[in-house]
Amino acid sequence: MGDCEICGRSSDILYIVELEGARMSVCERCSKGKSIISKIGSEHEAPTRPSAREEEPEDEIIEGYGEKIRKAREALGIPMKVLAERINEKESNLVRVENERTLPTEKLVVKLERELNIKLLIKPKADARNSKIKKGKNEPLTLGDIAFRKEPSD
Ligand SMILES: [Zn+2]
Repeated sequence: MGDCEICGRSSDILYIVELEGARMSVCERCSKGKSIISKIGSEHEAPTRPSAREEEPEDEIIEGYGEKIRKAREALGIPMKVLAERINEKESNLVRVENERTLPTEKLVVKLERELNIKLLIKPKADARNSKIKKGKNEPLTLGDIAFRKEPSD
């Protein structure tokens, strides 16, 4: 907490900026475009932590899954009844899935994929994900830019 030395506004977060060689603590708005040396008082604003692994979006069942199942099954010459027995599912349930009247369960999808050697799941489109907006950082201040450099005296 403190007051901005430029506009006088009190702010939870203050930035130490360097302005023409002088250091000032200013609010976020006044820090824009200036050389930020440090930021103070922003405890609840967690820094963006690079997570080891991006969250995997859940797989989605493909469009036309019923047809794909049927075609794969027919290509292998497996009657519905036989397939149902092989994967231990009710034939009526498989018929509904093939007709796309019901979505196969995750378990059934796995069994069908393995039995028929097909892919029924796809990754959702990447652009559907919320992309976090990264905050632009000001360029770091170089120590060589100190305004009041001592001249070597003779
Ligand atoms: Zn200000």
